Amino acid sequence: MPRKPVDDRHVTAVNQSLLSLDRTDDRDRLSAFVIASLRHTLLSWYRQCGRDLPWRQSHDPYAIWVSEIMLQQTQVKTVIPYYHRWLDVFPTVQLLAIAEQQTVLKVWEGLGYYARARNLHRAAQVVMSQYEGTFPDRLAAVMQLPGIGRTTAGGILSAAFNQPWAILDGNVKRVLARLVALQVPPNRALPYLWHLSEMLLDEQQPRDFNQAIMDLGATVCTPHQPLCPVCPWQEHCQAYNQGIQTTLPMSETRAPLPHKMIGVAVIWNNQGQILIDRRRQEGLLGGLWEFPGGKVEADETIAACIQREIREELGIEITVGDRLIVVDHAYSHFRVTLNVHHCCYVSGEPQAIECDEVRWVTLAELDQFPFPKANVQIIEALKQEERQKAGGRRQKAEGKSKHADS
Ligand code: SF4
Repeated sequence: MPRKPVDDRHVTAVNQSLLSLDRTDDRDRLSAFVIASLRHTLLSWYRQCGRDLPWRQSHDPYAIWVSEIMLQQTQVKTVIPYYHRWLDVFPTVQLLAIAEQQTVLKVWEGLGYYARARNLHRAAQVVMSQYEGTFPDRLAAVMQLPGIGRTTAGGILSAAFNQPWAILDGNVKRVLARLVALQVPPNRALPYLWHLSEMLLDEQQPRDFNQAIMDLGATVCTPHQPLCPVCPWQEHCQAYNQGIQTTLPMSETRAPLPHKMIGVAVIWNNQGQILIDRRRQEGLLGGLWEFPGGKVEADETIAACIQREIREELGIEITVGDRLIVVDHAYSHFRVTLNVHHCCYVSGEPQAIECDEVRWVTLAELDQFPFPKANVQIIEALKQEERQKAGGRRQKAEGKSKHADS
């Protein structure tokens, strides 16, 4: 496997012995010895302590690919039920490729980062059209598929075909940054960390090695309280030996997330239906359905914002009524507060001006559409309100019947 050059700016901060493989002095032997020891102790630990995860029982590249995509930015315990459900609905790449995008998004609903689902769907169509339904086994071809970067490709090819490709996901970055006591945030030393990951990879057992290092990061070398006393890499870990494991990896200084105040309308018509719209394919939450609305401008009331947005985006007039719920939600780059109001349709034909589609649906029909997480809370609030109204009607009816009996 080709080795990438090391970024020398960061070398002073790392374990020099690990970087001297190509030389022939005593440190080479130490480096080779350290690397062999790290591989051996990690794989022994994995055989005893590795997690029993559903995708590890499979060598099917499709199932492994699905798991790798779901695990991007999402924890294992969240992924497991989604993984099983996905394979129940789309057991093969063929069935995924021919599915409607709305079905794909509905099965993904709640897992977040919906571009992953859209890319999986598109990539399945590419696998069908270009590879006759057989997942490619070459790195360059895999990395051409939508939604697959270098670490995901390495994860799939090592797990499915036992090919010696390194990985560098968030867990691995943290473990390696501590192993060498990296003195910069990992994302500023990516060439070096890739080099390290490739050097350490056991080319005889790449499948197990990659799974093992991911498990080490997820269960032992955890973000806040690494369990160094039980870690198989403790002996060679520079962060542990310097007592700085809880201060690493260094983090980027991040500006606070910008906040947007949003007015949202639950628009009812005379038939008791609600108006929803489907977001444009491009951009955040593309292809998902939502309750319409938009950003509150400076000096604008929530009610005025909702009326203006609905006029601009759907071309209809409404009246704004009581508040239903306020929902706070954080995305990766900003936070929103959704101020959701019941509204009444007044006039005009709803048009998809700023979206791909609009529809009138009943409360019961909302469950058939894929919605973003924050909108699912709105649906729950609507159902809760409906249950309370039904309970009130029941009590009233019971009261009347008691009155009649007496
Ligand atoms: S010794 Fe501690 S800091 Fe070092 S790799 Fe192990 S768990 Fe992480």
